[in-house]
Amino acid sequence: MLDPSLGSLLDNVRIVLVNTSDCRNIGSAARAMKTMGLSQLVLVDPIEMPNGQAQALSAGASDVLANAKVVSTLEEAITDCGLVVGTSARSRTLPWPMLEPRSCGEKLIEEAHNFPVALVFGRESSGLTNDELQLCHFHVQIPANPEYSSLNLAMAVQTLSYEVRMSYLALENQKHNNTEVTATNVEEDEEYPVVEETERLYQHFEDALKATGFIVPSHPGLVMTKLRRLLNRARPDNKEVKMLRGMLASVERAAKNKA
Ligand code: SAH
Repeated sequence: MLDPSLGSLLDNVRIVLVNTSDCRNIGSAARAMKTMGLSQLVLVDPIEMPNGQAQALSAGASDVLANAKVVSTLEEAITDCGLVVGTSARSRTLPWPMLEPRSCGEKLIEEAHNFPVALVFGRESSGLTNDELQLCHFHVQIPANPEYSSLNLAMAVQTLSYEVRMSYLALENQKHNNTEVTATNVEEDEEYPVVEETERLYQHFEDALKATGFIVPSHPGLVMTKLRRLLNRARPDNKEVKMLRGMLASVERAAKNKA
């Protein structure tokens, strides 16, 4: 378990920008983050690497920009995270558990006690792809004007980082007043697997279902998408993931013996 002292909580909240095309937005996002006390920025395959213009827009937050990690896939950016929330400016065809910005801030801070958590932002032109959105436990939408709902990337970062900060300050206030700090949640939540482990579970399902013939590789259909949605909704804890993997191993053995 990570240091539960409140000081480290904000360091466990990661802002992930996917495939950003205008690096000025990266600079402005760094500034938005720092004003709210966030420092962990990860850039997934940025089209334009931060340059002088990004620096200028980051103003006093050039340290956040300088410390930004650059990776090539979203999976890499979130592999060690136990909670991942994807942002979306519009409703998608694939229904997914949604959070309001306020409860998103609360959930991120609550779970940042246990592992790194991530807020994922999409491309200026087209947002996040369905595959990327499926890597997230929840989606969050800023309830903007329905006729004009798409915020500038950095402004969306600002709005959601503000909610994270509000939730952090509420907790700090609680601690200051010597009230109990969500101790029960802390114990329950640290049992959740990180993305790397859930991805291994999905892969195991896919392998086993191919071995039994349930998934036909030439016509896989939507089985894995639907299964991801089901398991994501159930959010199995570590013990349940271990049990499911044991079950899958027994199915694989039975399929092998029959073959
Ligand atoms: N045209 C794109 C919008 C991209 S805006 C689309 O239709 O998806 C760039 C990014 O800013 C989005 O991917 C999202 O991360 C964030 N964003 C913009 N408006 C938002 C809103 N109303 N709620 C949540 N995130 C938003």
